[in-house]
Amino acid sequence: MDYKSVSVQTISRLPKYLNYLKAQSKGNSQNISATMIAEALGLNDVQVRKDLSLVSDGGRPKIGYLIDELICDIEHFLGYDDTHSAVLVGVGNLGRALLSYSGFDEYGLDIVAAFDINESLIGCKINGKQVFPLNKLMDLCKRMQIKIGIITVPSKEAQNVCDILVHSGVQAIWNFAPVHLNAPSDVLIQSENMACSLALLSKHLSEKLSKPQ
Ligand code: ATP
Repeated sequence: MDYKSVSVQTISRLPKYLNYLKAQSKGNSQNISATMIAEALGLNDVQVRKDLSLVSDGGRPKIGYLIDELICDIEHFLGYDDTHSAVLVGVGNLGRALLSYSGFDEYGLDIVAAFDINESLIGCKINGKQVFPLNKLMDLCKRMQIKIGIITVPSKEAQNVCDILVHSGVQAIWNFAPVHLNAPSDVLIQSENMACSLALLSKHLSEKLSKPQ
C-alpha cells in the first residue's frame, strides 16, 4: 500500500486499535467494521474509518476488515514487524523497570544493552541485558548500528547522554528525563513527561472537586 502522510494523532491511535483487534482476534468473528471499533473504544467512527483507510486497503463495504489482516497492516505500518535494537542509559528504578518489561517484543523493540556510570552496576544482568560502562556506549552503538536510545538518567545528565547517543549514530531517542533535549533536526526525540500527564489529572480533579455536587 502506498502510505500517505499520516498525522501524529492518527499514529498515536493505531496502538489502541491494535490492542483491541488482538483481543477480538481470539473471538469467533473473523471480520470487524470501523463502526464496531469506534464504539468499543469510544471514538468517532468517521475518524476510525479515515485512520484505517490510511494504513490498510482491506476494508470492504458491508463486510468490514478481516481482523488478522488489519492487525498485520497496522503492525507493518508502525514498523512492529521489523525488530529495532535499542540501548538504555541509566539503570535506576525506571531503567530497571523498562529493562525488565518483556512486552516491548510486541512492538518490535529489543533493548540489547544498558549503560551506567555507577561501577557497582557494571557487569550486572537485568532480564538478560548486560550493564556496560558509559564509555562503551559509542563503540557498541556504532558496531551494532543501534538506531534507538532510551534515556533514564537524572535530568541534569540527560543532554550529555543525548549528545553521546547522537554522536553514536542513534536516530530516535525515547527520553524519560523531565527535561527538554536538543538534537539535530533529523533525530527524533520522543519525551515521556509524567509531570504533564499528572498535571492534566490534577487539573481535572481540582475542577471536578471545586464544582458544587
Ligand atoms: P529513577 O529516577 O530511574 O528512579 P534512581 O532514583 O534510582 O532512578 P537516578 O539518580 O535518577 O536514580 O539515576 C538513574 C540512574 O542513572 C542511576 O543508576 C545513575 O547511576 C545513572 N546515571 C546518572 N548519571 C548518568 C550518566 N551521565 N550516564 C549514565 N548513567 C547515569
